[in-house]
Amino acid sequence: MSRRLTPEELLNRFDEAIAEGHIFAYYQPQYNHSTGRMTGAEALMRWQDPEAGMQMPSDFIPVLEEKDLLYIADIQMVKSTCELQRYCLDNNISLVPLSFNMSRNDIYKHEYVEEVEKIRRKYDIPVRYLRVELTETSAIGGMELVSSVIRKFHEYGYVVEMDDFGSGYSSLNILKDLDVDIIKLDLNFLNGDVGGRGGIILRSIVQMTKWLRTPIIAEGVETYEQADFMKSIGSNYVQGYLYSKPLPEKEFLEKLISTQQEPMASAMRLVDTFNAEKFWDPNSVETLMFSNYVGGAAIFTYKRGELEFIRVNKKYVTEIGMNLTEKDYIDSNPWKFFGQEGRVLFQQTINRAIDSGEEEQCDTWRILRSKCCGEDRVCIRSFIRVIGRAEDQYLFYALIHNVTSEKRNVEELSENEERFKHAFEHANIYAWEYEIASKEMRPCFRCMRDLGLPPVLKNYPEPAIEKGIFPEDYADMYREWHRKLEEGVDKLEAEIPLTKDRIPFMVRYTTEFDENGNPVKAYGSATYIDQKHS
Ligand code: C2E
Ligand code: CA
Ligand code: CA
Repeated sequence: MSRRLTPEELLNRFDEAIAEGHIFAYYQPQYNHSTGRMTGAEALMRWQDPEAGMQMPSDFIPVLEEKDLLYIADIQMVKSTCELQRYCLDNNISLVPLSFNMSRNDIYKHEYVEEVEKIRRKYDIPVRYLRVELTETSAIGGMELVSSVIRKFHEYGYVVEMDDFGSGYSSLNILKDLDVDIIKLDLNFLNGDVGGRGGIILRSIVQMTKWLRTPIIAEGVETYEQADFMKSIGSNYVQGYLYSKPLPEKEFLEKLISTQQEPMASAMRLVDTFNAEKFWDPNSVETLMFSNYVGGAAIFTYKRGELEFIRVNKKYVTEIGMNLTEKDYIDSNPWKFFGQEGRVLFQQTINRAIDSGEEEQCDTWRILRSKCCGEDRVCIRSFIRVIGRAEDQYLFYALIHNVTSEKRNVEELSENEERFKHAFEHANIYAWEYEIASKEMRPCFRCMRDLGLPPVLKNYPEPAIEKGIFPEDYADMYREWHRKLEEGVDKLEAEIPLTKDRIPFMVRYTTEFDENGNPVKAYGSATYIDQKHS
């Protein structure tokens, strides 16, 4: 049984602990979860007191830090890792890179980098076998200072890792500003929640770091579920109790000898002309172009038949003609919009684009389904091009045009009103959703197509009155309906002549309430009244 040393005892025994080697490293291996091979290990500080037993870093590090002694212990750890690597090299044991931890106070020690480098040279360890971990809290000392330390390490050829990523504030900004080579993402910060919100956050972090070309090691991985989840979002490197606890040197060596090893592969490589950092910056010209000028555009990844949309702009969604937001589209399974034929054709085009490296084009039919209008088909012309790759995963840029009307073997009905008349011969119901609190209306795609409506109409019903869909003499009544919906009426119904052609429709609203009985949404519909038959 060990006893925790008091701060006073720690400080009294520190010099001796360093001199006698009571402070040393445990090593926690890191693995590629896809192959089971070891890719590296982290050195973690331990203090074995001859009288009180094992002391853990969370107990003694804050004490050492406060008295400015941690620097000495950190340097001691660098020596330990170099010694171990030397031992492996001398004994023909194939080795993996070892990471040592830099504490935030080491940033202020001007000689820190030089000191590390001196030790490496003394033990003559190739620099690729050492890595340094620093935390984002180091940046508290000022971005300039951290950047210069990273720069110095890079000049000597060290790989620099960002430790505990995701624990702090402004994480993504820090990533943009600090030139680190690997990110360590600690799953403990998510309390094991990879299924819900935590998973969504992780996924977007992984996607964004790919854009920044930075590989990720997930730390604190305790369950298969967590490791599999990380793998499913494209991040294979794990460190945690699932594979191994931190081990004493001897046990680590045994594991090293008995396990196959492999180097870490780098993250997505982007085609050189494409600037990823700018793409994620909301104020960059690239983003402006993507959002405003290019027409319907999307970024998606493709890996062995799996398609995943990372980004689509507003025009992409309207071009397809769906009453979805960009986010809804990204979150849905993209293949569900393709029929069997379209899917094959699109996949062939993807393969062509991978082979040629050029822009490739295809026309595919997409199936739109909605509760209110049933099924509809649109034909989309896509121009796609590879802009990045990582192993067997490809990143694509797509531009699209809706060419349905070109394709459909019917004459183009240019006038809105005529299209409206034409449409109701085929279908006699239009539907929409009205969100009461926000006054936002979402039309079904048939409304969008026949009436030229956008996916979301704000301040409803004013835009529909302005467009003349609801005629002036019915405008006040229709406005009154929306006030009643707000007050909680559960049903509304009236015959209204719609558009300037005054085509008779039965217009209805049904309200949806929350558990407290407050109105949330109203479902609207307009059914054509066929007077020949009634
Ligand atoms: P860290 O750098 O984030 O190290 C990872 C910590 O998570 C280690 O705790 C490790 O034992 C623990 N861990 C590993 N796998 C799992 C897991 O699956 N689940 C959970 N819950 N925990 C896991 P440890 O060794 O107690 O170190 C704690 C912290 O002390 C380190 O966090 C690091 O901030 C600091 N530290 C450790 N060694 C050094 C060092 O040499 N220098 C400096 N400056 N700090 C160090
Ligand atoms: Ca660490
Ligand atoms: Ca960590």
